[in-house]
This record gives sequence, structure tokens and C-alpha cells, in this order.
Amino acid sequence: RAKEMGRNGFQFYSADMNLRMRERLCLEQALRDAVPKKQLSLWYQPKLDLRTRQVSGAEALIRWQHPEIGAISPGTFIPVAEDTGLMSAIGVWVIREAVRQVSQWRRETTLEVQVAINISAFQLSHQSFLGYIFEALKRYALPPQLLTVEVTETAIMTNMEIAVSQLQQLRDRGVTVALDDFGTGYSSLTYLKRFPIDVVKIDRSFVADIGEDRESDAIIQAIIRLAHSLSMTVVAEGVETQEQLAFLSAAGCDEMQGFLFSKPLPAGELLAFLQKN
Ligand code: C2E
Ligand code: MG
Ligand code: MG
Ligand code: MG
Repeated sequence: RAKEMGRNGFQFYSADMNLRMRERLCLEQALRDAVPKKQLSLWYQPKLDLRTRQVSGAEALIRWQHPEIGAISPGTFIPVAEDTGLMSAIGVWVIREAVRQVSQWRRETTLEVQVAINISAFQLSHQSFLGYIFEALKRYALPPQLLTVEVTETAIMTNMEIAVSQLQQLRDRGVTVALDDFGTGYSSLTYLKRFPIDVVKIDRSFVADIGEDRESDAIIQAIIRLAHSLSMTVVAEGVETQEQLAFLSAAGCDEMQGFLFSKPLPAGELLAFLQKN
């Protein structure tokens, strides 16, 4: 009896596993073709400077449009890419495409768009990452001041020595380093001091809690004060309401990003947005 249950239990588990593994394999195979078949694109979400009320730059966010499956979000496919070795090719594509796009905007308009790209744990923990950035900047003759790399604490911790050394070298050349999703990772204050960081991005889970209770508000105020005392600037992400915007402005937050100001836009629409603002 026990043996039978065990076997049934195993079969149930196994069938479930099988389905998930097949789905995953399918996604992995599709992802393998995404770069060569040109299914990836970058969308750009503008950031607002809270003092000048001017656009201060944009974050490049990857989009994958598969002909049969449709749109697949980066939250779904980036982790798969990370686990299967596909992140290397996708990461290189993101770097080149963002730098190419910004240099094209510079050439065709008078706009100097400061662009932020997201860097994964895989990229940051491999020495080749630095070379890809420098190569792209050189190829498209882009001033490093126009580029920001966004990394998470978790990505830095994956291979701290290599990560910190590469981020330091990027800063030495004038590239800005931003700590993404701040507050959701290890958040050790000791590390914050030791990491070579220019910008702290407050995770949108904190922003969503603004006005909910006094503790949440106090935490955001404390993060902003802490970052400023370490000579870092602060960007709030996921700002959706006027109330959140007013609170962040009053708390001295430097920049904000969120649906209240703009959703991520295709390259052409970002240009129109910038020319209007
Ligand atoms: P992230 O870097 O923290 O990007 C912010 C995410 O929040 C984006 O989701 C953006 O569309 C979303 N967002 C912006 N404003 C709001 C708002 O007001 N409300 C809400 N609810 N959401 C908002 P997205 O584009 O789905 O990207 C999710 C994550 O995928 C990113 O988080 C980043 O970790 C990763 N990702 C995106 N593009 C890339 C990439 O090119 N390379 C790598 N390695 N990761 C990427
Ligand atoms: Mg980001
Ligand atoms: Mg973020
Ligand atoms: Mg995030």
C-alpha cells in the first residue's frame, strides 16, 4: 500500500516535472534563435530629474517578440538565459544595440540621451564584460558619460572580486554605475560603502508602500539620506501616483522613473517623447 502510494506520488511528480521541463526546453530552444532571428528589441523608459523637471535619461529594457508565442517578458526569459549560457550572446547584443541607438540619436538630432542598460549576474562575473562595453563605446564613438550600467547586489555578490574590479574600471573611464532594486538583495550597509556605485535605485516595492504606513515612509527617507551621505544619487523606480511623486520630491530624491511619467517606449516613440518634453 505504501509502495503503491509512493509510486503514484512519484508518477504525479514526474508528470508535472516533465511538463515543466518540456516547456522550459521549448523556451530555451526558441531563445537560442532570438538573437540571430532578430526577435529582440530594446524599449526605453525615460527618467525625470526631480529638481529641473527635465528628462535625465532612459533605461533600456529588453523585449522579446516570438512569432508564435508572442511577447515574452524579461522576467521569464532572462533567468532561462542565465541558466543555459544564452545570456552571454543576449548580453552582448544589449550592450551593442543600446550604444548604437544612442549614438544614432546623437548623430541625427541634437539630443544627448543618457542610457542605462541592465547587466546580469552572468555578465558581471565574467571578465569579458568590460571588453564588450569598451569595444561598443569605441565602435560607436560614444562618450562614456552617456552610459550607465545597472547591476543588482545579488549580481555583484555572485563573483564579488571580478564584479567590483570591473565596475571600478568602468567608473574610472566615466561610465556611471547604478545599484538596481536596492533593498531587495543583501542590503548590507558595509557592502554599500565598499561597492563602486554612483547611483542607488530604490526598488519599486518600497515606492508602492509610500503613504501606507509611517515605517515604509521612514525607510525611503533613510535610504535617500544614506545614499546622499555616501555621495550617491537616488532614483526611485515604479512611481505610479502623484502622491508618491510629491513624497519623493519632498524627501530629496534626485530622479524618478515610472508609469506616472512614462511607460517604456519603442526607440522611435522615445525620440518623439524627448522632442515634445
Ligand atoms: P528592472 O531593471 O528593475 O526594470 C524595471 C522594471 O519595472 C521594468 O520591467 C519596467 O517596465 C517596470 N516598471 C517601470 N515603471 C513601472 C511602474 O510604474 N509600475 C510597474 N508596475 N512597473 C514599472 P520589465 O521591462 O518587465 O523588466 C523586468 C526586469 O527584467 C528588469 O527589472 C531587469 O531586471 C530585467 N531586464 C530587462 N531588460 C534587461 C536586459 O536588457 N538585460 C538584463 N540582464 N536584464 C533585463
Ligand atoms: Mg534596471
Ligand atoms: Mg529595478
Ligand atoms: Mg526590478
